[in-house]
Amino acid sequence: MSKQKACKNCKTIYSGVKCPKCGSEDSSDSFKGKVVIFNPEQSEVAKNLNLKEKGEYAIKV
Ligand SMILES: [Zn+2]
Repeated sequence: MSKQKACKNCKTIYSGVKCPKCGSEDSSDSFKGKVVIFNPEQSEVAKNLNLKEKGEYAIKV
């Protein structure tokens, strides 16, 4: 299993060459915290982090 990293642009957690969500290659593998958003419209966490799509995100990149 490859190491997970977080996109510095949109905070998406992924493992690969570039972010599957925004296409950025600017990433950090020392991100802090992890949050999984299932229902962004009804999630306080998603609102606080300004996340509009479901997915797995780093809290702090
Ligand atoms: Zn991204």
